[in-house]
Amino acid sequence: MEYKKRNTPMPTMLNPIVAENRDVLIQRAAEKGIKIVITDDFRSAEEQDRLYAKGRTEEGSIVTHVEGGESYHNYGLAVDFALQQNDGNVVWDLKRDGNKNGESDWMEVVAIAKSLGFEWGGDWAGFKDYPHLEMDFGLSIRELQYGERPPASK
Ligand SMILES: [Zn+2]
Repeated sequence: MEYKKRNTPMPTMLNPIVAENRDVLIQRAAEKGIKIVITDDFRSAEEQDRLYAKGRTEEGSIVTHVEGGESYHNYGLAVDFALQQNDGNVVWDLKRDGNKNGESDWMEVVAIAKSLGFEWGGDWAGFKDYPHLEMDFGLSIRELQYGERPPASK
């Protein structure tokens, strides 16, 4: 299949359907006694390039494997989450069982997210991105780069 590059502007915010599902995710997790925070959602291609430079041309350790325009965050289709403890501290702890039901809070959040239609970065072969949740609407990064866009609203 061949794609013609369209003059489609890059999104500037989180897709409204993704935003709605993010809100439902936060609420359903809270109902289970799990407080989550969204640490990242929309990220411009320029911001992505700055992140990509980390650990490569800039100091620090590598935080991403994709450059600007190659991440679903750049199209407003991804969010990253973390758990918030009662003391307010944000943790990336996949084993934590804060609601004491014998299950990992992290995996409970992932299960809710999947039921809402999110794909989880922890399921990826190769590099695993555990905080990452995305909705691709059936569009590949290549299609998005070529100007295809998901519906903006329901
Ligand atoms: Zn992410």
